[in-house]
Amino acid sequence: ATMPPLLSAMANAGRHGVLIKSAVVMERLGQVDTVALDKTGTLTEGTPRLTDLRPLPGSGLTEDGLLRYAAAAEHPSEHPLARAVVEAARERGLALATARDFTAAPGVGVTATVDGTVVTIGSPGRLGAADAHPAAAEAARLERDGRTAVLITLDGTPAGVLGVADRLRPDAATATTALARLTGTAPLLLTGDNPRAARRLAAETGITDVRAGLLPQDKAAAVAELQGSGRRVLVVGDGVNDAPALATAHTGIAMGRAGSDLTLETADAIVIRDELAAVPAAVALSRRARRLVV
Ligand code: ADP
Ligand code: MG
Repeated sequence: ATMPPLLSAMANAGRHGVLIKSAVVMERLGQVDTVALDKTGTLTEGTPRLTDLRPLPGSGLTEDGLLRYAAAAEHPSEHPLARAVVEAARERGLALATARDFTAAPGVGVTATVDGTVVTIGSPGRLGAADAHPAAAEAARLERDGRTAVLITLDGTPAGVLGVADRLRPDAATATTALARLTGTAPLLLTGDNPRAARRLAAETGITDVRAGLLPQDKAAAVAELQGSGRRVLVVGDGVNDAPALATAHTGIAMGRAGSDLTLETADAIVIRDELAAVPAAVALSRRARRLVV
């Protein structure tokens, strides 16, 4: 006996590296006409490297001193930026203090107490670095170079800025082009990162619709707005910050390698082979199966 088209499409998608959670999802995936991609970990490899370490002149900190606070506070975090910071400290052979009272605010940053000092690390804009502050100028300089800048404060006072850089996935441009062709619409980028770095990266894939500086609920609102105007949106993301958008989307796909438990649970499908090209492949399989079903 031959397998029903949707089931054989699911098996095929599995071979392409996409785990589709149900036959209903397999069918719906081919209906999407708009794709919204997350940046870090979705369009990029998600393994950023620390490139710049800038203690502020007034902080009295050395580069290693700044990094020691930052890495200790980031140690409990699963965020790709946190891993870059911890990895840099490891490479420099720094011994890390244990962080207490760790909390993470998705799309903003983290806070923890290290050696009795309250350390925050995160988006310079979100942590309220006044535009006139030297830290803001340093962050803007890094962002113009395409970096993600994060601000570190100690007991509420800006102490330094870190620069982090991530690479585009090798298949980012071809996958984006394939999705544009399949859906008839150019994909858009939804990111919590700064607009300067985001636009620069997006341009290399041909994406021009870039919505940056978004909190997790802003990503979901952007998707809801598109769907309110009749679009059927496929969201592709990897972080906890993408979970609300994945839940709002017509169809949500999680990049599985770095995907958080919440994200993997919320998504309708999971990319288990770490390639963005698996996404257009799955959309194409759904299209084909739907033609066979009707
Ligand atoms: P993206 O949408 O690109 O995946 P996120 O929403 O995860 O990005 O993060 C947005 C911004 O929030 C980051 O660019 C950074 O400034 C800040 N941020 C979030 N989590 C952390 C963290 N653990 N450490 C430092 N900064 C963070
Ligand atoms: Mg991400």
